[in-house]
Amino acid sequence: MTEEDIKKAEVMAERMLNVFGISQLAIMGIYKKLIISLSLTDLDELVKNKIYFNPIFSPASQNKLKKTLDDGSNIITIDLNTIKLFSSDEGTAIILHEIGHALNPELNNINGEYAADDYACNRGFKQFIISSLEKGKLIRPSEFVSKSTELRIERLSTS
Ligand SMILES: [Zn+2]
Repeated sequence: MTEEDIKKAEVMAERMLNVFGISQLAIMGIYKKLIISLSLTDLDELVKNKIYFNPIFSPASQNKLKKTLDDGSNIITIDLNTIKLFSSDEGTAIILHEIGHALNPELNNINGEYAADDYACNRGFKQFIISSLEKGKLIRPSEFVSKSTELRIERLSTS
């Protein structure tokens, strides 16, 4: 890892609300890809927008916070049981997509999805957003088989 990567890893570690979750994402190969895919500017934006990550185990899990969160903090929850069904690239793309939502709270419905997809695409994960949607349709049809999924795949495939 470069010096910059180490700095980025330090910032990211501060955004993670549970240490066990970091180790689980690391085992899946997602944690490092997430850090590499984000620039220091991207990470500064996470800090400025009070965005945190809380990896959890569905259907329910708990963890004690070791820090005080400001009003308006935005917690991206990551279901480890689901994300492990995807490849490390797809899992990283899914988390990048969610960051895109957190940074564009004013956009709703399909426009919010497009903005979130663009965030992942701009960091090199377009093909993995597409493959995560295709895989999602197979393994979680009740959540993924939708008009919105089709519109997103079509837009990503033709842009
Ligand atoms: Zn979304």
